Amino acid sequence: MSRLPDGFTDRTIFYALQPLLAGGVLVFWYFNQDFPNGYVLSILAVNVILGVLEHWRPARPDWVQRWREKSRNIVLVVILTVGAGIVVGLYDSTLRQPLSDLRESLGADIWPHEWPLLVQVFMVFFLSEFIWYWMHRAEHRWGVVWRVSGHGAHYSFKHLGAINFGANHPLELFFIALPSALVELFFGVGIAAAGAAVFSVTQATIAHTNLRMNANVVGWLFTTNRYHVHHHSSILEESNTNYGCSAIIWDRIFGTFADAETVDTGTGPTEPSLWQKLIMPVREPEDTATAPSNIAA
Ligand SMILES: [Zn+2]
Repeated sequence: MSRLPDGFTDRTIFYALQPLLAGGVLVFWYFNQDFPNGYVLSILAVNVILGVLEHWRPARPDWVQRWREKSRNIVLVVILTVGAGIVVGLYDSTLRQPLSDLRESLGADIWPHEWPLLVQVFMVFFLSEFIWYWMHRAEHRWGVVWRVSGHGAHYSFKHLGAINFGANHPLELFFIALPSALVELFFGVGIAAAGAAVFSVTQATIAHTNLRMNANVVGWLFTTNRYHVHHHSSILEESNTNYGCSAIIWDRIFGTFADAETVDTGTGPTEPSLWQKLIMPVREPEDTATAPSNIAA
């Protein structure tokens, strides 16, 4: 384990930033549930805070994204966030009725709407993360799922930073949005699903951050950047760990948790171009080392 940080600023970032940001976003949501565009504003604020700190106090100075790279990633993530909104709307309009009918027919109208709202938020969060854990594990296990999801595109970045939370292949938006849609619409959750969504995205953003942050205590239940960066390792065995992008508890339970230093990230020694990332579902870059070995040629 490397040396603990010196100085007030680095120590504050190390010990307090993740609880403050993730907790702060949740508190803001709790007291401002009707605030227009509260979700977008929260995610924007989290990214601005982390983005500025990453330039000022990077954990790995060689990972600091230069302006050209950063601006490209910002444009990508803005477009993909709009895309994610469309996918969420699509799931809502197509799955709401069938899942509601399924709930009725199974007599599964069991969601505890009368429980404290924050308890419900964490129930949605951990249930959605449970589904995502298995979907993400499947992406790394089977070549066909790796390809169809375009997961390699998200995985292939060599310089990770907070903004990478949203740098996903357009096809993967259908995977990422599915777990919370299933939980929300099957159980008929209601407003707690919105709190879980903003908390989950905040957690995923923190997990990609290029800052030195403590993995203890918070890291018992929630993913920290130490754990998630390890998942992004360019070594195949290390990539098959820490599938939880926001909650780490399922990795601990199902035996895929790993706490170790990470030397290099990405799908191989080089980062594919934007075009290569886009066509990953049909053609894998030559030097890919982390794709499942059973991938179709
Ligand atoms: Zn992955």
